[in-house]
Amino acid sequence: MITFFREFYMYFKYALDGLTNNPISIAKKLKESQYWDRMKIENYQLKQLNNLIVDAKKNVKSYQREKYKNISTFKNLDSFSKYNPIIEKEYIRENADFLISNNNNKRFKHYTGGSTGKPLSVDVSELAVAYRIASHIRFYNWWGINMFDRNVLIWKKRKQKKSMRSFFKKIELKLLGRLELDVFNINDRTIFDYFNKIENFKPKYIRGYKSGVFELARLMEKHNLQFTNSKLKMVVVTSETLFLQERLFIEKILKCKVANEYGAADGGLYAVECPDGSLHINEESVFISSDMDDSAYSTELFNNTMPLINYRNEDIVVFSDRSCSCGRNLKVIKEIKGRISDYILCSDGTKKHCYAADLILENIAAKYKDSITQFRITQINYKLKIKIIPGNNFVKELFREIESEIFVEISKDLEIEFQLVQHIKREKNGKLRTFIRK
Ligand SMILES: [Zn+2]
Repeated sequence: MITFFREFYMYFKYALDGLTNNPISIAKKLKESQYWDRMKIENYQLKQLNNLIVDAKKNVKSYQREKYKNISTFKNLDSFSKYNPIIEKEYIRENADFLISNNNNKRFKHYTGGSTGKPLSVDVSELAVAYRIASHIRFYNWWGINMFDRNVLIWKKRKQKKSMRSFFKKIELKLLGRLELDVFNINDRTIFDYFNKIENFKPKYIRGYKSGVFELARLMEKHNLQFTNSKLKMVVVTSETLFLQERLFIEKILKCKVANEYGAADGGLYAVECPDGSLHINEESVFISSDMDDSAYSTELFNNTMPLINYRNEDIVVFSDRSCSCGRNLKVIKEIKGRISDYILCSDGTKKHCYAADLILENIAAKYKDSITQFRITQINYKLKIKIIPGNNFVKELFREIESEIFVEISKDLEIEFQLVQHIKREKNGKLRTFIRK
């Protein structure tokens, strides 16, 4: 009942925020379109892409450049992926003004975290924002819960000075049934307080950075804390690569299933995981393709305010050609391997994606239970510095095993240095990167 009132409240709040297309109404339509057959989905996407191109060529300077001269509408999605010029992140940074439409529609500013030190600001149309929220609403619905159920968010909590605004924000969080916890502040000292807060709050779900949720689970296990009041229905992790062992660990400690979410402030809510374990693309609002190197290109279909058409989002994404047992016909992503810039540079000039090194450490963590809690690899020239937070069963012989795996899988010319640490520092945006190249 309370959830119903929250939904009711949000319906009006969305309208007040300037969303003339209400996400709650769109979500109802999305429940049907997920079962459309492939041909209907693809025809729909093609139509929206063509509408976006026509609109962009008319209203956006960037799409009036010479290279778009011969681009008109496309006959199929393949030719769109193949022949449409791409938009790079660097181009957006340098030419943001040329990408903004003169249609004067309402726009919402979104910022990407800037974990590489280069933040990006993108304007999103109100319809695209509404679709992002609607796709979220549908996602929770797949898991038998309502997005407006009580929830905990583990995030970079914005520090707010005491003001009328922060006062209303507090009231709104209460109304929304949300408890926000600061990802920077989860540690051995605060875990008891965090745990009690969650227990008293009794959330239906927890959402947060994967590393934040993982840290919560790790500290709960370490201090022998178990939820008795809180009966979680799901945990949503986002923003960082989720490895199988981490998923299994979180599921064991928090006693519920983990669902992965893949999105970006600049590109939209790309894909969300269904209870049958497939990461389905939100194809009604996003089109994603990839090239030979699995580099992903996205187009948010309804962002005509700052259209990023065939946008190279710098992620490495592998698609699956299988359909999902859940019956939804939305295309499935098999694997997200992280960012294209996260590669290990070998002395012969070859580049190996850091995912290969991540997997070596993850596999060892899985093989020897409670050996590696967390790690970070930093490349400086041809040296890999590997910081490890050791688990109870860590033994120094593992160094040799990791080293020999790296020599076989990546390169034998790399120098490797290990360091056991108690803490690994997060980025400014609260995320925890497993690989950094200096
Ligand atoms: Zn599915």
